[in-house]
Amino acid sequence: MQNKKRILIVGGVAGGASCAARLRRLCEKCEIVLFDKGEHVSFANCGLPYFVGNVIKEEDKLLVAKPQLFNDRFNIKVHTQHEVTAIDKLKKTISVTNLLTMQERIEPYDALVLATGARAIRPPLVGIDSPNIYSLRTIPDSHKLKAAAAKAKRAVIIGGGFIGLEMAENLAQLGLEVTIIEMATQVMPPLDEDMASYVKVCLEENNIQLQLGQAVESFKQTESGLEIHYSKSHMTTDMVLLAIGVLPESSLAKQAQLQLSERGAIQVNAQMQTSNASIWAVGDVVEVLDLVTQQRFSLPLAGPANRQGRICASSILQAFNPALDRKLSFKGVLGTAVCQVFGHTIAMTGASEKTLQRAGIIDYQAIYLHPGHHVGYFPGSQPIHIKLIFSKADGKILGVQAFGREGVARRVDVISMTMQLNGSVYDLEESELCYAPQFGAAKDPINMAGMIAGNNLRDDLPLADWDQLQTSEQQIIDVRSLAEFSSGHIPGAVNIPLEEMRQRIEELSPDKEVWLICGVGQRAYYAFRLLFQSGYKAKILSGGMQTYLAKYQN
Ligand code: FAD
Repeated sequence: MQNKKRILIVGGVAGGASCAARLRRLCEKCEIVLFDKGEHVSFANCGLPYFVGNVIKEEDKLLVAKPQLFNDRFNIKVHTQHEVTAIDKLKKTISVTNLLTMQERIEPYDALVLATGARAIRPPLVGIDSPNIYSLRTIPDSHKLKAAAAKAKRAVIIGGGFIGLEMAENLAQLGLEVTIIEMATQVMPPLDEDMASYVKVCLEENNIQLQLGQAVESFKQTESGLEIHYSKSHMTTDMVLLAIGVLPESSLAKQAQLQLSERGAIQVNAQMQTSNASIWAVGDVVEVLDLVTQQRFSLPLAGPANRQGRICASSILQAFNPALDRKLSFKGVLGTAVCQVFGHTIAMTGASEKTLQRAGIIDYQAIYLHPGHHVGYFPGSQPIHIKLIFSKADGKILGVQAFGREGVARRVDVISMTMQLNGSVYDLEESELCYAPQFGAAKDPINMAGMIAGNNLRDDLPLADWDQLQTSEQQIIDVRSLAEFSSGHIPGAVNIPLEEMRQRIEELSPDKEVWLICGVGQRAYYAFRLLFQSGYKAKILSGGMQTYLAKYQN
């Protein structure tokens, strides 16, 4: 590098701070300056719901690195409460306003990084400016929420996604009566409805009131509280948290006429470079490639923001000095995500069925399984409800969703990594994973998922289509015990316990397809193998009664 280069970074949290620190590790000579309009940089926004809920007690714990540390340890100048208001691409300068003095100044750059994040969506509804309506993005937001929760008895959370659920748990644990109003007909919209039903039951069991399929229309402050009017009804509460998603904070990029997506996200190449060669962008503000559907979208998660910050640093130095061999690429995302609610874990990676259908991808198969997180004979085994989706053509894994108390994130992480290595369900069958009774099973849930899917692809385990359950003319044979059958079954199902199948096989009509069901799928599989080898046309209802309940009764 010839001269000392000046790199300015706008936004000092996940993407911006990691870019700044990596730049310093790679370039001692560069001048690195970071601006943030907020009071803090490098804070743990992911911890905010737990700070509101008093699980994290000290604000200081949320501050991963303070401006002084950036200065002393990394020689990075940090200016908090400084808002960048404009970019002059031709002169390569930015306009910055010191929010304490309101003085404006111009700062030149050789490279500019936009890490401006996202902002909470605040729809222009009547009454939206009521002081009792909050959102949660920053530490000051969390203080306002804490103060409101201390005075409130009732809280309404609008939006049942990640932040909505985490806040529902935290506010409930502070003793508030919590209601979630969600426009979709399910909670946790990234999940398919059948998997979201486990979350719904969990929330209801923990006294969270749910108003699903309800669009909020207006708010009105009255003497008895804040009235919320939604599709069919209204309710009164003491405080509202808006958690209906975020939009890219891209007004600077728009003013600078950088290329943006329809939703306003900054378009970048794999080196995080924008349509202007001297401007880079990372984090919630950019558009990323969905590795499954190959479509571009925004994914506001901390992991991608941090990794992009690192890649961006290399890319900037490579641009300063093309002779360097530092070209890293951000490949895209699977949307690997996790969330905890009332002691349960929801985790997912890749595409849901909904996403695949929206993208026009139809040649897929979904399977369900409900294994214990470790062997049943060791105390404390907890079920994990798993939905695995794969390509019928080649077994390539397209997505997984899982819910349970223990061992959930670990399984989803393994599948995510397999997907990132372009793996298939056959790789899951053969995965070599940790096993001792406390941790898993000799056939881990990951192996089981691969085996079920692999058996299906080899035609050893044909699956019935759950969506055709009410329309087809099949015989539904429930192979559980009489006691299990008596405690609840699919209407019209006939009970032939697996142990009696060989004696009672003549009761089945050879001309009609037999759909087999049991508790979770295992006994139905054994029954299928028996019937198939006896010449019957049979299929299995994947996941058994557990999946039936999730699909039709929760
Ligand atoms: P941000 O962290 O939003 O930082 C952007 C910064 O830019 C802000 O500080 C802002 O003040 C500053 N800025 C914007 N415009 C300007 C300007 N013009 N001038 C100066 N400064 C500006 N993700 C997970 O993966 N897991 C989780 O568990 C999780 N939990 C979350 C919980 C909450 C409550 C929230 C809010 C987010 C959570 N996230 C989670 C998302 C994650 O925090 C974000 O994806 C990540 O912080 C994005 O990083 P970023 O650097 O792109 O933007």
